Amino acid sequence: MGQLKLPPGKRLAVNLGVDFDAQSLWLGAFNNPSPAMMSRGEFGAEVGVPRLLEVFKKNGIRTTWFTPGHTIDTFTEWCKKIQADGHEFGHHGYYHENPTKIERDTERRLMELALETFDKQLDVRPVGYRSPYWDYSESTLDLVEEFGFIYDSSLMGRDLVPYRPRRWQVNWERGNVAGKMANVVEIPVSWFLDDFPPLAYVGGIQPGQQDTDTIYRRWKDIFDYAYERVPNGVYATAVHPQVIGQAHHMLFFEKLIEHISSHDGVWFATCEEIARAWVDDDADRAGL
Ligand SMILES: [Zn+2]
Repeated sequence: MGQLKLPPGKRLAVNLGVDFDAQSLWLGAFNNPSPAMMSRGEFGAEVGVPRLLEVFKKNGIRTTWFTPGHTIDTFTEWCKKIQADGHEFGHHGYYHENPTKIERDTERRLMELALETFDKQLDVRPVGYRSPYWDYSESTLDLVEEFGFIYDSSLMGRDLVPYRPRRWQVNWERGNVAGKMANVVEIPVSWFLDDFPPLAYVGGIQPGQQDTDTIYRRWKDIFDYAYERVPNGVYATAVHPQVIGQAHHMLFFEKLIEHISSHDGVWFATCEEIARAWVDDDADRAGL
């Protein structure tokens, strides 16, 4: 497997990524567009985004905002502010649809619809894709390649290094077979580095509301491990403005940034910058 070639003096790439789902989360993920859920999405845009932008600016951090087309069409002005601060946008579906639950034609149509929105509202074409569900249909990787993305950030085949994802041929009564590698670089996600499952309360579905000291310790431990033991690694977190933007969560996130920033050789980067720092080895080239 290849590896990242980090800028001189850097030893760990850090992407403090944002999944800016806003109200679309409650449509595509939970099928619950009630007034209260819309207000939670509204909070993400109106309160969470400015709090995050301020913290990123203060610490000189640019990152990647994986943003559904629905969010861009609903909260266009906030997206323009994110863009003005020099952040990258990544594709994140249109209404936070679940790729595993829709037909290939619908998946393709929604992927195109979001790209049209990026073009119309922000005049950008994202080079990276993150599945809204952090899961793929049988078609997703084909579509990601077809639409020309250079990286994906939805899978979990590694934790602290990027890699070239493979198409697994699944067999039930004999072993699975690893297929050819994708021509996108995977910047892996981790449910352990996502603020939504431990912190967001969703009635009847997940309790959330965990203690932030626990989450801080976990995220710090993963960072410390990566920094000490994984040369040329990547540490990528995912926060949601409607979750991390809550007052007490911001304090934990700011403490984490302070901890990370106190280490020499940390490279705060967008996912695009990280993907472009990837260098294939012979095995990768043979697998393409
Ligand atoms: Zn999302």
